[in-house]
Parts: sequence; structure tokens; C-alpha cells
Amino acid sequence: MDILVIGGGGREHAICWSLAKSPKAGKLYCAPGNAGIGQVAELVPIQVHEFDKLAAFAEEKGVGLVVVGPDDPLADGIVDVFEAKNIPVFGPRKNAAHIEGSKTFMKDLLKKYGIPTAAYEKFDSYEPALAYLRSRPVPIVIKADGLAAGKGVTVAFTREQAEAALKDIMVEKVFGESGSQVVIEEFLEGQEMSILSFVDGETVRPMAAAQDHKQVYDGDKGQNTGGMGTYSPLPHIAPGIIEEAVETIIKPTAKAMVAEGRPFRGVLFAGLMITPDGKPKTIEFNARFGDPETQVVLPRLKSDLLDIFLAAVNGTLDQVEIEWSDEAAVCVVLASGGYPASYPKGLPIQGLDEVREALVFHAGTARNEAGAWVTNGGRVLGVVGLGQSIAEARDKAYQAAERITFEGKHNRTDIAAKALV
Ligand code: AMP
Repeated sequence: MDILVIGGGGREHAICWSLAKSPKAGKLYCAPGNAGIGQVAELVPIQVHEFDKLAAFAEEKGVGLVVVGPDDPLADGIVDVFEAKNIPVFGPRKNAAHIEGSKTFMKDLLKKYGIPTAAYEKFDSYEPALAYLRSRPVPIVIKADGLAAGKGVTVAFTREQAEAALKDIMVEKVFGESGSQVVIEEFLEGQEMSILSFVDGETVRPMAAAQDHKQVYDGDKGQNTGGMGTYSPLPHIAPGIIEEAVETIIKPTAKAMVAEGRPFRGVLFAGLMITPDGKPKTIEFNARFGDPETQVVLPRLKSDLLDIFLAAVNGTLDQVEIEWSDEAAVCVVLASGGYPASYPKGLPIQGLDEVREALVFHAGTARNEAGAWVTNGGRVLGVVGLGQSIAEARDKAYQAAERITFEGKHNRTDIAAKALV
């Protein structure tokens, strides 16, 4: 079976790498992909927003399955376009992807169905939002309603920060229409974790749990990024808590989406906080694989990813075998100098071909005219170590990370450190 994967980051590299291991996989296409993905798939020069072109390509090639990686095309209804042409597609329809596309929708859904989450109020104009904000203690969390490339959330520790964030969203409109509504939310203390699940309607098949590191510098300092590293499993979190999150949050949410006439099919990503009383609460839902969570979760999958995608598409997700290895995985992201602000592109990358001890998923690379690897994005590479323990996986990831060099390269040095204590 020929397959088209849509997207071009480290997540899509991990998805393509995993699909390529399936004995049933035929030709693998990735649109637009990146130079690293070109090692396992044929790159197709169509952008993720060119829905009609993508559908025409899938029809012309007779692909048997389309897999959508990124959030924006899902929120804009890419899956509905493929479904209208009877092309099998793994991902949520527009009305289900709304769980990520609108934080007010997500919060109202959880409230209606009594699913644990932080207390909140929502506003569609500035003055009442400001008055409410001034009546609340800090820390407090301000969230733009819509998609904002991972930058729409401010955890404010001072009143000045909180008011500046609200003004940016509602007055300066730095996120455009995504900021026409705002959620002001109670600050939750505790340990964060992510649980990604394969979901089809009310069927929920959880994947291995993972934890990411959003801030750019060690010790969770500096600006938020798309993600500087991840690890899985989470040895410092009791397995009972993960099960509790699945039973009290993820399954009820899948059920609520069905009840609302928005059945979810795809990967439902729950961002959770384990509060000091040991109870998990919802921070966010995403309607897709996480990046870089996918890079540590899929290498631990022992079963055939293509079988799982097809089972979800065919309504048999409850029957398919999904087994996980006991191995640990740690992903260290190597970023361009300047990231998450502006950064140069086209800088030569050395050492890639010398890495033996880790997997390397490409997020932002290209080849120059001479065929050599160069940087082509903010997050350049995700280096994934695997081992019998987090410590072993981490050592391998950092050994490999050191072998790879490019001008201005920076990475966090404390990925998975919390899991070692
Ligand atoms: P989000 O984009 O919704 O994942 O939020 C980005 C980050 O902000 C999360 O990973 C958390 O670290 C933090 N965050 C979001 N909501 C809260 C909250 N209610 N309390 C504490 N931290 C939060």
C-alpha cells in the first residue's frame, strides 16, 4: 500500500521512519517533507495548505492512506477534503480538530462533561477581561483562543506580565483572529506529562506517556519553543496516575466528542498536570501527534504503525495489537543560533554520518548544491537515544548530540534530568 504523509518536521520524519518498517508499506510519499525525510520517503513539493493539490496527487498515485501531521491543516479541514474524495485518511475532521483549534470550545466541553481541568473564565472583549484579571491572584494563565504556533499561552507570575499578555492578545492582536477570544485560567502547580492516544470515536488506545521541555534554556528558563526535548517513559510518575488520567480525562473526552456529534479519529494528545494532591487535570488537548513527543514514543512501538492507522480508519481500532517496548527513549533537539527568535539558515552541518548510537530525526535540514547537509529551520535535528533506562538513553542521545556540529548550535543539557532524581 502506498502512503502519503503530510508535513515536514521531526514528527513527520518519525512517522515516516516508523511506517517504512511495515512489511505492508509500499511507496512512501511526504509532502513537503524535508531533506532528512527524503532518506525514507519520496518528497512531494506541495505545501500542507494546498488541499486540492494534495488530494489530486493522492488520487493520481492511488495512495491507500493519507496521514496528516500538523495542526493547522487539520483545523482548516484537510481531512474533510480527502474524505469527500473517498481517500482513506488518518486524522480528525475539522469539527473534531476544533478541540485544539479553540481553547474556549475545549474548556466549555470539559466543564459540560465534568472532566477535570483548571478553573477558567472566557472573554470576547478587553475591558471585562481586564477587570476579571485584576480581581484574581497571580500566578495566572492567559490563553489566546485559537492556534498561535505554540505561543498563545502566557503563565504570568506578576500583574504586569498578565496585563501585558492580555493587551498583546486583545488590543495589539499579535495573534490576529486567534486572539478574538481569551481564556483566563487558574494556575496549576505540579508535574506535567503528555499522553498521546490513538482514538476512533469512543475507542481510546493510549500510547506511552512522555514529557516535553518547552522553554529554550536549562532549568525551564527563557522563552517557550516548539519543544527542546522529550523522554518516555516517565519512571517518576506512578503508573496508577497514568491509568487514572486515561479513565477520568481521555476516555470521557472521546465520549463527550461523540455525544457532541464531533467523533474524533486520529491522535488525541492530552497535556496534563499532576497536581500536588496526586490528581491529573487537563491543561490542553491537541488533535495530532506532538512534536517532539512522537520522536520518543514511536521508537518504543513494537507493533506495526500502518496496521494501527488502518484499524482506526476502518473502525477496528479496539481489536488491533498495540505493544510497547520497555526501552526508554530520550530526544535532544539541536536548534539554530537565535531560535526561538530569528536565526540563520544554510549553515553546514558536520558529523551527521558519524552518529551510530542514536536515531536522528530531521526537523529543519536541506542539502546544498554539493549535496551536503545544511540547516534550514529553527529546530534542526532531534537526536533520540534508546536504552534500558532513561540514564542510558540520555547518555546515548547526548553523545550523538555532541558529534553533530553547526555554527550557533544550541541544545538544552538537562533533558530528562527530572526523571533521574
Ligand atoms: P499550552 O500551549 O496550552 O500547552 O500551554 C503551554 C504551557 O503553559 C504548558 O505546557 C504548561 O507548562 C503551561 N500552562 C498552561 N496552562 C497552565 C495552567 N493552567 N497552569 C500552569 N501552567 C500552565
